[in-house]
Amino acid sequence: MKNAQVIIIGGGLAGLTAAIHLSLFKIKVILIEKETFPHHKVCGEYLSNEVQSYLNSLNIDLSQLNPCQINKFEYSTNSGRKISSDLDLGGLGISRYNLDNFLYKKAVNSGCEIIFNTVTSVDFEEDQFTVNTSEGLSLQAKFVIGAYGKRSVIDKSLNRDFIQKHSRWLAVKSHYKNDSFPSDLVALHNFNGGYCGLSKTEMDTVNVCYLATYKSFRRFKNTDEYRENVLMKNPHLERFFKNSSPVFEKELSIAQVSFEAKTQVEDHILMIGDSAGLIHPLCGNGMAMAIHSAKIVSESLLAYFDNTDIIRKYVEETYRERWNLQFKNRLKTGRMLQSVLLNRSLAEFSQNIISNVPGIMPHIIKRTHGNTII
Ligand SMILES: Cc1cc2nc3c(=O)[nH]c(=O)nc-3n(C[C@H](O)[C@H](O)[C@H](O)COP(=O)(O)OP(=O)(O)OC[C@H]3O[C@@H](n4cnc5c(N)ncnc54)[C@H](O)[C@@H]3O)c2cc1C
Repeated sequence: MKNAQVIIIGGGLAGLTAAIHLSLFKIKVILIEKETFPHHKVCGEYLSNEVQSYLNSLNIDLSQLNPCQINKFEYSTNSGRKISSDLDLGGLGISRYNLDNFLYKKAVNSGCEIIFNTVTSVDFEEDQFTVNTSEGLSLQAKFVIGAYGKRSVIDKSLNRDFIQKHSRWLAVKSHYKNDSFPSDLVALHNFNGGYCGLSKTEMDTVNVCYLATYKSFRRFKNTDEYRENVLMKNPHLERFFKNSSPVFEKELSIAQVSFEAKTQVEDHILMIGDSAGLIHPLCGNGMAMAIHSAKIVSESLLAYFDNTDIIRKYVEETYRERWNLQFKNRLKTGRMLQSVLLNRSLAEFSQNIISNVPGIMPHIIKRTHGNTII
């Protein structure tokens, strides 16, 4: 049976960053990921700059991928009324295809072992974890980090609360060719039943990613019909789609996107990234939160491995506390914003206020983001 100090389940941004951080400090880490690299993922692909200096401290230099530098934001309601703002902190337009693959290679170079398997269950007994995969592997470790994203069979086996509830949301993503779309802009356009984000990536394509309710989607046969009859009712989206050509043969989609509150420690597993809590995508902060939570969990574990007086319970409590301190309010603001945005009259009304009170937009954006991580 394979052994490690830490097993990480899931090789997205959260899992790979934690793997790199811990491996750099000579912790024996095994990361288990179900997909091979590179692969596309449903995501808006706008990465807030708040994590740049932390990534640099791990010798991760994203400028090597030539990302777009984004410092402008615009938002429109379904009727097409638009407001614009500068983004104080800004971010990068970067595809998950290249970003995750880049981090995967860094993790391998940092000494982390990566196994391509699907984890089916995790057992905790006598202060030790056993992790089982669908391919019949069984591995043991002192700690397990859950970094397997929004939902997984593991959530079912852990009987987590959020998995019992039906979610209202599905998400769709694709890349489009559109040479006139500015490379420094992230746009968020409302439509009747959801919202759609647009931003350019280093692949010279525009990422188009939208979140929609099942209720609004149900009447249509497929995403083509939905795009034409619902998204394109917003004149900005109509103009965009009429002047763009799709790059992917088929759009990517995910079902059952849940924004229910989650627990950060479940059956002694330390949850990071979306496994610990998903912020509403309109905030454009999920990727940064995934990376930041990897930092917090890595520091908590390094303290344990450095100091024989620290016990598991202390690691779990400090991790939970630090996570909530950083992210709880952002999630709350995200929830509030989403309900305003999806209510047609509230969205128009709040846009009036935002247009007339300078400074309010940067303030809202700040509340959904963190400060630069040092
Ligand atoms: C529509 C939409 C748009 C978004 N847009 C943005 C945006 O513009 N900016 C932003 O910052 N955030 C955005 N987000 C949020 C962002 O995508 C996530 O917060 C981020 O991807 C979380 O990273 P993660 O590592 O936690 O999860 P993931 O990136 O999902 O990684 C989880 C990994 O675990 C693997 N896995 C799952 N189950 C198992 C298993 N059983 N065994 C082994 N491996 C497993 C998966 O294959 C996957 O690679 C958006 C989200 C949505 C839904």
